[in-house]
Amino acid sequence: MNEIPHNPARAQVALMMTAAMGAISLIVLYGWVTSSFHITTFMIGAASMKVNTALGFLVLMAGVLGVWLHKRNLTIGCGLAAMVLGTFTVMEYVLGWGAAVDQLFFADPWTPVNPGRMAVGTAVSFVLGGAMLAVHDTYPHQRINLYDALITAFLAIPLFVFFSYVFAPDEVLKTPSVSTMPLHSCLNFLFFFFAISLLTSSKGAAGLLNRNTRNARNFRWLFLIVLILPLCLGSVLNHGVQQGWIGTGVGIAIFCLFSTLIIASALAHHTILLDHWFRQLLQERRRSNQLKNQIHELLEISADAIILFDDRLNILHANSGAQRILGFNPEELCRMTLVHLLPENRRDDTANLMQRYLQREPENSSLNLQLQHQNGAEIPVAVTLTKKVLEDQTLVIALVKSIEKLDDKIRSLEKKASTDPLTKAENRSEFEDFCRRVNLHVLRKSDFSFCVMMLDIDDFKNINDTYGHKTGDQALAEFSQVVQDTLRDGDRLFRTGGEEFIVISANVPPEDALAFGERIRNAVATHSIVSGDLTLHLTCSVGICVVDSSTADLEDAVHRADEAMYQAKRKGKTAASSHPVPTAPPPTNRRRFRDHLKSIRLRRPFSRLMGL
Ligand code: GH3
Ligand code: MG
Ligand code: MG
Repeated sequence: MNEIPHNPARAQVALMMTAAMGAISLIVLYGWVTSSFHITTFMIGAASMKVNTALGFLVLMAGVLGVWLHKRNLTIGCGLAAMVLGTFTVMEYVLGWGAAVDQLFFADPWTPVNPGRMAVGTAVSFVLGGAMLAVHDTYPHQRINLYDALITAFLAIPLFVFFSYVFAPDEVLKTPSVSTMPLHSCLNFLFFFFAISLLTSSKGAAGLLNRNTRNARNFRWLFLIVLILPLCLGSVLNHGVQQGWIGTGVGIAIFCLFSTLIIASALAHHTILLDHWFRQLLQERRRSNQLKNQIHELLEISADAIILFDDRLNILHANSGAQRILGFNPEELCRMTLVHLLPENRRDDTANLMQRYLQREPENSSLNLQLQHQNGAEIPVAVTLTKKVLEDQTLVIALVKSIEKLDDKIRSLEKKASTDPLTKAENRSEFEDFCRRVNLHVLRKSDFSFCVMMLDIDDFKNINDTYGHKTGDQALAEFSQVVQDTLRDGDRLFRTGGEEFIVISANVPPEDALAFGERIRNAVATHSIVSGDLTLHLTCSVGICVVDSSTADLEDAVHRADEAMYQAKRKGKTAASSHPVPTAPPPTNRRRFRDHLKSIRLRRPFSRLMGL
């Protein structure tokens, strides 16, 4: 009972009906217990409601309460109990167990000669009413099913008894199997029907009482007429026509008419429901198709490439985003495998990576790859893979995002972070990284000859002091440019201090190293720096260390070049000097630099090879 009564007022009415049902049953029980209560005498046709019937109604009442309280087990239990009670009586009639059982259990205290069994009509009503309660919870919304059939059948019996009493009491009463349902029972069943209809809301024929459709409104009027009209008509006929056969005929005719109307109304309602249901279904289908098409269109025009491929890496589908990124149109892509999109030198690795992903557990995976554009260019892409394992194959959808622009952006930021803004030489932190990355051990083993050159501008402080910092800055920038122009491809210039620079040069034969230093020094000395009316010339001292088997590491090479430069300064500045030099303790600021080199942490692991 997961559906709460959606109209509390209606639930109150249902409760009142249930209370009325209980009251009638309890009055009968009270009469039976005291053997003195004569309620039966003033109720029309109320011959005697048997005690077992009264108890049965109390069971049905508890079932209705179960619906109201959402006690699923109570409702189903009471429904089944009512069915057992009804079935027992029907079996009793059918098998003729008769008086013995009645005398034992259901003796009628008011009319001892009249066995206490309930009428067949009542019994069948109990079976139907009980079934209604038992299946109500499983009743699916808006479908014709057992519940509707039960309700329609259930209504027919109390109504028939009602008509029988009103129109042809004598004749019908003579047929015990039908007639002996007393009016109390009949009213109780109708109360039960109303209560359950009001509680179960918008379901089947019961729902007709609750819905606000034209059909439902008609049905409600009809129901009222069925209850009230026969009472008036019956009274007139009973007393006017003296309860003859005409009364029976008219009664049965009216009963047939109303029953037909009720059933027709219920069927019409079902048709409306079915129609509504089909319409909804069609509408949902249309909407979902529309949505699917829109999603498809959006995927087609997506800026990212969407590629579907199978477990053999055959491309099954590609959108137009794939063409934008890879150059191939979707038809061409569908004739290719994923391997064709990989740069030749990485095909094996990447194909293996894909195969591993296909065999692995996780359904999603993200990786960065290089794909090959139709024009041969390599494009960096971020790929998100999602796989779906079907019965006979695995399908993978790849969402491919070009990160070319991002890559450019990262490169330009890297460049910015590693360059000294004034001199455009690489900065100190880049030099520290370089020291970390370079493996002298490997370099020494290779054919490269490798030299470290220390440059220091002579008396630069004087330039600042004489011409100002602005001119000093210009001089620094031009110095750097001149040195840079003198270097060859692959050589690197770092600004490691205010007016101190380091050149790292590969492939310099040891015998040429000094001449190389001289060339730089001369280039600097002959360059004229023009600042307004001024023309300046700079000189610098150069210390060189050619890396050989005696050099422990790069730090050692820097230290030796530094010493050589210091030596050159001592020689009288504007000189180039090469290691070995007499071993003099390095000045403290040099030591600090060396210590600093030691403490450098590896910040960017092997991601960029230097131009060596
Ligand atoms: P030496 O020949 O012994 O090397 O003398 P020096 O004056 O060149 O060396 P010193 O270390 O005494 O002075 C270096 C000067 O460089 C001090 C500082 O004002 C100047 N300097 C350092 N960085 C900059 C800079 O970015 N711009 C300018 N304009 N001057 C700088
Ligand atoms: Mg200096
Ligand atoms: Mg200097």
